[in-house]
Amino acid sequence: MAKRDYYEVLGVDKNASEKDIKMAFRRLAKKYHPDVNKEPGAEEKFKEAQEAYAVLSDEGRRKQYDQFGHAAFDNNGAGGAEGFSGFDFSGFDFSDIFDNIFDFGMGGSSFGFSSSRGRRKSKGRDSLLQMDVTFMEAALGSVKEIEITTTDTCGDCDGKGGFGEHTCEDCHGSGTVTGQQSTLFGSFLTKTTCKSCNGEGVTYDRICSKCRGTGRVKKVKDVDVKVPEGIATGNRIRLSKMGEASPNGGENGDLYIEFNVKDHEFYERVGNDVYMELPITITDAILGTKKDVKLLNSVVTLTIPAGTNSGDKLRIKGKGIKDVNYNSYGDFYVIMSVVTPKKISREQKKLIEKLRDTDLSDKKIDKYEKFLRQK
Ligand SMILES: [Zn+2]
Ligand SMILES: [Zn+2]
Repeated sequence: MAKRDYYEVLGVDKNASEKDIKMAFRRLAKKYHPDVNKEPGAEEKFKEAQEAYAVLSDEGRRKQYDQFGHAAFDNNGAGGAEGFSGFDFSGFDFSDIFDNIFDFGMGGSSFGFSSSRGRRKSKGRDSLLQMDVTFMEAALGSVKEIEITTTDTCGDCDGKGGFGEHTCEDCHGSGTVTGQQSTLFGSFLTKTTCKSCNGEGVTYDRICSKCRGTGRVKKVKDVDVKVPEGIATGNRIRLSKMGEASPNGGENGDLYIEFNVKDHEFYERVGNDVYMELPITITDAILGTKKDVKLLNSVVTLTIPAGTNSGDKLRIKGKGIKDVNYNSYGDFYVIMSVVTPKKISREQKKLIEKLRDTDLSDKKIDKYEKFLRQK
């Protein structure tokens, strides 16, 4: 196939200014860039435009082209001064071109004119998920698989929302329509987002039925969530790019997970310390004993001293919960709870009555008795 004329490729005339050429190329680059347009033939069109731009944007090359046509760059051609075939774009910063394109007027309504429509690749929305975890999952850390419903780019239409893209007829691809607004101070030209194409500048022959034109579909996926050791209710973690899909091919949003730690039957958390009530019999409290105590991830044998009261505290240093941010641990407190039996045998009753006949008094009790008799 014969090579198309470079001016024709860019859709400009032979006298086009440098600026016209740049504008024309930007428009085509945006339309056919492989990141944006996945339709068959788009890449070829993009490369064609690239090549035309590489020549026409360079004063020297443009002159050669004007004089010799394509032959100027043919290795065997008459005027093949540079003799390059294929064009090296390694030094050509497309991000620059795209940034400029996407930075152009952000649509919406504004007074005056902006030179081009613009569609910035925006990040998808962040989402927030509440997650219940057990006390132990939070205290020791764990991995939990969760099912999240998120949005993903529609695979049928590659997120475009439709098939058969063509320039919007109402705004001629600019994404904005110009109107007139009359005010007390005179009339102004206004620019508003085109309603036919929502400022996209393009419409489609057929709307994608899978995503109903939104370009996004709901997706359920299983995600392994690492519950950090020491996490507490209200703490959040962020799963990068696990949020909603971008509406226009940008990055996904982030997924935040907020933890809700459920209560434990025996352990209670205060800061990074853990409190546990240890029930002991009245005789163990009086005589003292040894007791196994279940810590978060080990069992230790504690010596309960003779004469232990309800509410007495024993501290086991560093056996609490790890600080979620630092490598330090809280303490584990064992709170004594002397349990008075509700049912005792006749024999036990006799023994205890015998005990009552002895003088079991204590300083604390004497003090109260004194207070009771005070006038
Ligand atoms: Zn439009
Ligand atoms: Zn679709």
